[in-house]
Amino acid sequence: MQHVPEPWRVKVVEPIHLPDRDTRRRRLEAAGYNVFALPAADVYIDLLTDSGTSAMSDNQWAGLMLGDESYAGARNFFSFRDTVQEITGLPFIIPTHQGRVAENLLFSTLIKPGMKVPSNNHFDTTRANIEVNGGEAVDLVIPEGRDPESEHPFKGNIDLDALDAFLAASGRQQVPVAMLTVTNNSGGGQPVSLENIRAMGEICHRHGVPFFLDACRFAENAWFIKQREPGQGHRSVRDIAADMFAAADGCTMSAKKDGLANIGGFIALRDQGLFDALRNMLIVIEGFPTYGGLAGRDLEAVARGLKEVLDERYLEFRVGQVQALWERLDAAGVPMIRPAGGHAVYLDARRFLPHLDQEVFPAQALTVALYLEGGIRGVEIGGVMFGTTDPETGQAVWPQMELVRLAIPRRVYTNSHLRYVAEVVEQLHRDASSIRGLNMVYQAPVLRHFTARFELL
Ligand SMILES: *Cc1c(COP(=O)(O)O)cnc(C)c1O
Repeated sequence: MQHVPEPWRVKVVEPIHLPDRDTRRRRLEAAGYNVFALPAADVYIDLLTDSGTSAMSDNQWAGLMLGDESYAGARNFFSFRDTVQEITGLPFIIPTHQGRVAENLLFSTLIKPGMKVPSNNHFDTTRANIEVNGGEAVDLVIPEGRDPESEHPFKGNIDLDALDAFLAASGRQQVPVAMLTVTNNSGGGQPVSLENIRAMGEICHRHGVPFFLDACRFAENAWFIKQREPGQGHRSVRDIAADMFAAADGCTMSAKKDGLANIGGFIALRDQGLFDALRNMLIVIEGFPTYGGLAGRDLEAVARGLKEVLDERYLEFRVGQVQALWERLDAAGVPMIRPAGGHAVYLDARRFLPHLDQEVFPAQALTVALYLEGGIRGVEIGGVMFGTTDPETGQAVWPQMELVRLAIPRRVYTNSHLRYVAEVVEQLHRDASSIRGLNMVYQAPVLRHFTARFELL
């Protein structure tokens, strides 16, 4: 395939700076070997997350100047609403300031204690918003989606037989809504096929259960469908996205992903009764229905970002950039989840650092090494994030995988930056045996990965 260059040119630059090795060592020590505690100014290439880190276009920045900060009925609300309606085909639109507020509104309205919500894999904020309302979040991704080696083209698919059986056993009284995350963030950014989305819609409707997409990366998912699904290659991403939403009763969205914005989100849905209930709650916790926790200018940036994200030249570069990083590392023998996801590559720290036991946090050790070696910040998804202690036995319980996610912000880094990242990872891979494990010396009772502190062994 021909090399695909960045489909944009640079108009404003933000200097980035690599502190010298000794400074990096001291910063790590001060941060307790937790990269969440590093000042971002001391990070050279920041791959902590693709959320809210996108670079906006000149068109979006121009839109900020057209912000109408009227309390009610700001013009930007109408361009926001019209854009979301046009892309999703869903009639009722509720703006929120993040995706998790959309989740909070939806689940606090629908869930009674003891209810269950299935998905392929729930994202952590989705799971948390279900659980704080007394519900149970159930993951039903296909078996290939749990296998880091499987090359299945749609590893984000939900297991349709398992879903059907689950809904038959639970009944619609117990399942107020079913979710599907596209692409499947917690499952490695893997896509869901259009066939799977449609079949899930049919199953849910047969059981009388509303079906919502967690649509954070709907455009990346639609691009994968165009590339990989038989019979979809000739269609536009816009038409494919429209078909994804046509199968659903609604969606929650974080515009910090495929909204190409730094803040924002929404719920879109078909049911007027539910819309009225959600809107009443919105006024209590977020804001008036025409701004929903956002400034008018933010609504404008999201409206414009949602149009730009469907540009197929953008998507070809975006998904291709992640893929190219993955392929280069794969060729160097670096162990990773296969295949590349839409927004990130996931290093497999257990195979990267076979000399480290799970008790000494291999994925955290690799995260620390990436910063020390190259000023690169990734995120641990392993024993620090998901390890727990069994309350009965006091024994540590470890997750199956030890991963380091390198999430690629949208339109921020060039291929040259990612070549640097690849060189650093390859260097570490060659010297892997010198990477030391960590001992956790502080942990918070919940979500410990954000504030945990470590010492080097
Ligand atoms: C980021 C994300 C959310 C939450 O959105 P925020 O804007 O961070 O609150 C929900 N679901 C998925 C799949 C996400 O990636």
